[in-house]
Amino acid sequence: MYYDTHVHFSGSAADTALMMARAAAAGVGRMLAVGGNPELNAGAVAAALAYPERVRLALGFDRDQAGAVAPDEHMEILRGLAASRELAAVGETGLDFHYRPESAAAQCDLFAAHLRLADEWRLPVIVHTREAEAATLSVLDETAWRGEGLRGVAHCFTGDKKFASELLERSLAISFSGILTFRNAEVLRASAAYVPEDRLLIETDTPFLAPVPLRGRRNEPAFVARVAACLAEVRGDTVDRIAAVTRENAERLFG
Ligand SMILES: [Zn+2]
Repeated sequence: MYYDTHVHFSGSAADTALMMARAAAAGVGRMLAVGGNPELNAGAVAAALAYPERVRLALGFDRDQAGAVAPDEHMEILRGLAASRELAAVGETGLDFHYRPESAAAQCDLFAAHLRLADEWRLPVIVHTREAEAATLSVLDETAWRGEGLRGVAHCFTGDKKFASELLERSLAISFSGILTFRNAEVLRASAAYVPEDRLLIETDTPFLAPVPLRGRRNEPAFVARVAACLAEVRGDTVDRIAAVTRENAERLFG
């Protein structure tokens, strides 16, 4: 049984029902529904309500939302959304200087606000980081994101072993997506072989980033089996063990 730790629910209820049936048939027992903007937060809430046995909930504001309103205002919205429901994590949030270099400072402020809220709530945080390695580490360090009680995941990790080790040192788990299966992802596969077993997670990042040989299609949780198979091959392990280990890690982190 797989645990897909990063799913954005953005389709209709009927579409989601079919997707959930395919996930069950593929052995995907648990998912984390992840927000990131008003629409994705609403989609995550709807999925968690419709499938309470299988779907846990994370809410947050991603880098594209940085600067839309002040970080405090974003946090007030999250407090309102969380008042009547049980969250498993805060996110996604984080930094992307590939697509949005112009809002770097606002992204750092919004990311830091999420870290403080996750610390206050004693919840793990879901971190996106792309072409922003130094800034990611410095925001984590400025908010003293290190040590006991602080938890989270660098989702859809694409970095090298050195960056992985920096994140591991700051108590984050590392989650691998379908990018692991891409032909030119040798550096990433080296990172996947390197991460200690108790910090490994898998995800699809549905609806994005379908794995090989399904690239170009809309991604969905059923395809997380491909990520697990690739991770097993890279680590010289069995798929069953990778499924079990990543599921246990996800349950420890998200419940
Ligand atoms: Zn995402």
